[in-house]
This record gives sequence, structure tokens and C-alpha cells, in this order.
Amino acid sequence: MLRVGLTGGIGSGKTTVANIFHILGIPIFDADSIAKKIMENDEELIQFITTEFGEAAYTNKQLNRKYIAEIIFKDEFKLEKLNSKVHPKTIAAAEQWMKEQNTPYTIKEAALMFETAASAGVDLIIGVFAPKHIRIKRVMDRDGNNKEDVIARMGKQIDDAIKMKLCDFVIVNDEQQLVVPQVIQLHEKLMQLSLK
Ligand code: ATP
Repeated sequence: MLRVGLTGGIGSGKTTVANIFHILGIPIFDADSIAKKIMENDEELIQFITTEFGEAAYTNKQLNRKYIAEIIFKDEFKLEKLNSKVHPKTIAAAEQWMKEQNTPYTIKEAALMFETAASAGVDLIIGVFAPKHIRIKRVMDRDGNNKEDVIARMGKQIDDAIKMKLCDFVIVNDEQQLVVPQVIQLHEKLMQLSLK
């Protein structure tokens, strides 16, 4: 089975594109939400996070994402330490999940594909591209954040122009080109490639 990665910058439209593939019958592994689930259920991780970030890291066993995000945003060392615990478990969960699927190909959606070892577990990578000003507006509208916060978050990711060069396929989600036909065309290509 072909293992496909789906990535792109904040607000590029990864989830939107993943939803279209899902409608076409392709199972999606959402690395971000699975990582959160693991942080809420893996005893070793819960203990690590509580020691590292304090009891406030959880409210009623639910991860307090905003609280943790604020800390790791300012503290690179804590961010790396957390990532070094969470990423290997998420990557292992994705590998296990992919083995359990029986479609010609599967998709793993991850914002951080090249920044982590996630790209090693996939055969091909799709990038979703949108110009920066559109991404900023989308995230401001979706999350209610101010412009400076969105730009600061973007600054933590690899530049999109570089990221797209590392991808095997690029879907342009710039609100000029239609997205659905691009996804259908790519779906047909991936179905063919999966037969090889
Ligand atoms: P993040 O990395 O922040 O999770 P993402 O790359 O998964 O973001 P989406 O959540 O798919 O991006 O899209 C961001 C916002 O932009 C959403 O509110 C979505 O509905 C909207 N959006 C995405 N694509 C388009 C489009 N072509 N036209 C209009 N709105 C769009």
C-alpha cells in the first residue's frame, strides 16, 4: 500500500484538502489530533508532561493545549523536549494505523512533516500551498487570533516556498484555482501509482 503524507503551512488548507480525499474514500491519519490523544492517554507521557509543565497542563484529564502552547512558544528547550517524547509515539501510531488500512493508499496529514521524522514513514508527500496573506486571514478568521500572533506562529515553521520544493505534488489552494479538480486528478494518479 502506498503511504502518502499531506503537509503545508498553517492555514494552507491541509484539513480542507484531507476532507476531500476522505470523501473519495481515502482514510486520513490526522497527526495533530492523534498526538493530542496520545498526550491524554499514554501514562508515561502524562507523567512527563505533568512534571515538566505542572498540574495545570491538564483539566479533567483533558490536555490544556493553550497553556502548553504558550510555554513552548517561548521556551525552545521545553518544545524540543516535549517533541522528542511525543513525535516518536505519534509516528509509531501512524505506522500501526497504516498497516491496518486496506485501501490502495492512505494519507497522513501533518503540519510538521519535514521538521520531524514523519516524512521517513511515507512514500510520497503532497504539499498544500496558499500565499501567506491568505493564510494569515484564514487563521485570523478561524481562530480569532490577531495578525501578529499568526505571523509569529508561522515563523516557527519551515518557509513554505522551501517546504513545497520538498513535496512530490503540490495542490494550490489560493482561492483562484479550484481545489476539488486538483484533488480528484491527484487521487487518480495515486490510485494508478498504488498499482505499480
Ligand atoms: P492548520 O495548520 O492551522 O490546522 P490547515 O492547513 O489544516 O490549518 P484548514 O483548517 O483546512 O487549514 O483551513 C484554514 C481555514 O481556511 C479554514 O477555516 C478553512 O475553512 C478555510 N479555507 C481553506 N481553504 C479555503 C478555500 N479554498 N476557500 C475559502 N476558505 C478556505
